[in-house]
Amino acid sequence: MLEKLRPDIFTDSLHEISAEILKKKGIKGIIIDLDNTMTNWNERFITEDVCNWVKMMESQGLRFCVLSNSGKRRIEETVKKLGLSYVANAFKPRKQGFVLAMKKLKTEPVNTAVIGDQLFTDILGGKRLGMTTILIKPRATREFFGTKLMRKLEKIILKRF
Ligand SMILES: [Mg+2]
Repeated sequence: MLEKLRPDIFTDSLHEISAEILKKKGIKGIIIDLDNTMTNWNERFITEDVCNWVKMMESQGLRFCVLSNSGKRRIEETVKKLGLSYVANAFKPRKQGFVLAMKKLKTEPVNTAVIGDQLFTDILGGKRLGMTTILIKPRATREFFGTKLMRKLEKIILKRF
């Protein structure tokens, strides 16, 4: 059971993820979470450093699709500046959103990585489809109260890895 939740890579920040590492694994497309991965929770802008990281990865031939449980308007507004494709109302960890995102990326699970800050949505969803999964430390501690409860459970599980 726990193995179904174990991320392939643990990292503190997006900046520690290099194009070289992913390309060595054969990754061509990245499905990335929005809240607390690219932005601070519920903020409507992506900081300059994250924009630069995305552009750097794209310049190395990697493609992005944002996958979020948030609504279309919020995502559109936030990722507009970067011109990324996205899937809204994804209901992660359900498979459907991940499959749609792969369609947009023109990739398969074997060459797709998932980057996100939550075990029970981002990582579980990616693992269910056999993708490479990367768990990142959440950017901010302020979040939805339901998420806070999940964090407590996450902590217990992460200790076992
Ligand atoms: Mg998140």
